[in-house]
Amino acid sequence: MKNLFDYNIDGLQELLLTIGEPKFRAKQIYANLVLGKAITEMTDIPNSLKQKLLEQFPDAPVKIHKKLTSTDGTVKYLFELADKNIVEGVIMTYKYGKTQCISTQVGCRMGCKFCASTLNGLIRNLTKGELLFTVALANRDCGGNAKKREITNLVLMGSGEPLDNYDEVIPFLKELAKPENLNVSPRNVSLSTCGLVDKMYKLTNEGLPLNLTVSLHATSDEKRKKIMPIASAYSISQILEACRHYFSVTGRRFIFEYSLVKGVNDGEADAKELISLLKGLPCHVNLIRLNEVEETGLKAGTNKSAYAFMNKLNEGGISATVRRLMGSDIEGACGQLRNKYVGGSNN
Ligand code: SAH
Repeated sequence: MKNLFDYNIDGLQELLLTIGEPKFRAKQIYANLVLGKAITEMTDIPNSLKQKLLEQFPDAPVKIHKKLTSTDGTVKYLFELADKNIVEGVIMTYKYGKTQCISTQVGCRMGCKFCASTLNGLIRNLTKGELLFTVALANRDCGGNAKKREITNLVLMGSGEPLDNYDEVIPFLKELAKPENLNVSPRNVSLSTCGLVDKMYKLTNEGLPLNLTVSLHATSDEKRKKIMPIASAYSISQILEACRHYFSVTGRRFIFEYSLVKGVNDGEADAKELISLLKGLPCHVNLIRLNEVEETGLKAGTNKSAYAFMNKLNEGGISATVRRLMGSDIEGACGQLRNKYVGGSNN
């Protein structure tokens, strides 16, 4: 279902003409959307126009269904879409500003063995307008507005595979970067993919200076296939080639995510293989301590072993850090809050 934020200002102008309204209202409506306002909250729009809009569109494309604040200040949201589907979002506060982690799909069809978001498969893609409104709403909820922007950075690391929803996600990022929107530069956006190689090439040609992040999680195709079904479609060498291409075109270093799963990919031999695989590449490795998801049966190692793995990589000349744990007291990771809420079912 489309919502008003699926239209840009030109699109809104056309829409207004079809319902017999003056096109100057388009900018007003758009400005309200950027503030995260529902149609009924738009105080500068006449009631008669609001009524016409409500005949075609949901009042708010996204609502805050639930909000949890962690002892470390991390805020976790359950957002409710107009069709009652629920997606998660997280806001983490750093020295330089706030980073919002957003979901690009309801569920996911990538089937990674350790991930909670994919347990029930893909339900649907989020639209560009829903993605935009999620950011606007969170910005509003943090006390921000169009001038005083609270959300400075975005990571596309919530539920879903962003490149599997390419046609909504890329226009979303382009729209979000506009001065009349929240002006979030792609430089402040990290897009995480499980390695959809053809889409990685397509992305390279968009001219968006994003931070490209790839979920590697294993050093051989054989091992990767055991935890990531997508590894049967694209090999690690194809992924590395696409990353090199990204760097040669954009000049931007890329990041690999590596979630440490006890006894699966966190051994000394794995560290050694990772060093030889990535040696000389303009990349950084983000080590993630596994967030245990009961249904998967996979276990996390100790913090000590994560740092030992990091030290090995660093000693081997690979830049690597262990990702900070934030909001773990509020199920701050990887689809777990939504799953608890919907009881593991899709409804
Ligand atoms: N679909 C995107 C975004 C996924 S979420 C992708 O695959 O990159 C961001 C990161 O968290 C990915 O690296 C993902 O593999 C990882 N992840 C998912 N579930 C996890 C879990 N339970 N513990 C640790 N990392 C997890």
